[in-house]
Amino acid sequence: MRALILETPGNPPKLAYRDTPEPALGPRDALLRVLACGLCHHDRLAMTGVLRRGIPSNAILGHEICGEVVKLGSAVTRVALGRRVVPLLTNACGECERCLAGQEHRCISGQGIGHGVPGGFAPYVAVRETALATVPDGMPPEQACLLACPTGVALQAIQDVACLKAGETVVVTGASGGLGVHAVQLARAMGARVIGVTSSESKLGPLMELGAEDVVLAGGELDFSEIVLAMTGERGADVVLDTVGSPLFGSTVRCLAQYGRLVLLGEVEGRPAQLNLAEVLFRDAVIRGSTGVNRRQLEQAVAMAAGGQVKPVVHATLPLRDILIGIGWMQERRLFGRVVLLPNG
Ligand SMILES: [Zn+2]
Ligand SMILES: [Zn+2]
Repeated sequence: MRALILETPGNPPKLAYRDTPEPALGPRDALLRVLACGLCHHDRLAMTGVLRRGIPSNAILGHEICGEVVKLGSAVTRVALGRRVVPLLTNACGECERCLAGQEHRCISGQGIGHGVPGGFAPYVAVRETALATVPDGMPPEQACLLACPTGVALQAIQDVACLKAGETVVVTGASGGLGVHAVQLARAMGARVIGVTSSESKLGPLMELGAEDVVLAGGELDFSEIVLAMTGERGADVVLDTVGSPLFGSTVRCLAQYGRLVLLGEVEGRPAQLNLAEVLFRDAVIRGSTGVNRRQLEQAVAMAAGGQVKPVVHATLPLRDILIGIGWMQERRLFGRVVLLPNG
């Protein structure tokens, strides 16, 4: 099969689109024909060499997969041939204490799909059956591939980490990015008032269509935290979902109300952040990180998409070999939602 191999990370990375053996199947693995694979910031950071941990040489990246089951290992019982499925981000064993407790994304022996084990930037990928959720046949694969990361990842952060309640005010930074556009929709579906933060004026209208009540432009004369305070009668936001990280740290904390919760979902630059810690103390603030998604919440994301409560936002689809066009759009911040790659088309 012709897969995209990351030969040497860098800017630009050295990539090869070349023949490589089809993945071997273990007894509890399913072989998926990859119908669509989202292009995540994680992939861009791995390609450019910012993120090196856990990336083997000659890696096949890509963890935002929708595939059709085309072959089964001898002991598979959970999925059937021909079904359309979406994997978690981790090839979870299904047997360890964390998997049995429903924390498959923290599986003790689990390896990340698209770094520890080969990912979806290839026509075929092998995934442990316990890491799969079934999606309705009629759901377009370019949308379904976004249901684990970024949709499920945003859902977990909102539901389990931020513990967002109806009626609360939530600020979403990087609101027009892949995590942001889905976090805005999910927070709105849960009855919160959503304030989006974006760097581009052209994205204001589309974000309001997704459910943001207000949208603030970052990078203006006034820090966006000042605008958020003004919009909330100087009270601040109950929750900030930050998909950007260090470049906004400080401003994100200053958006918080008393007892506010800041949840970190992304770090785009991999740099240290600076903050006067009194800003945290005086607010009784909570700062937490959140990554990944477990199977229960992936299944919930699938159900919410099937029910129309969240619509995966696809900026464009590209053949896998044109990945560098997508990376370029990312770097120019031209995206609204995700670029989705088609390894078989
Ligand atoms: Zn992702
Ligand atoms: Zn496990």
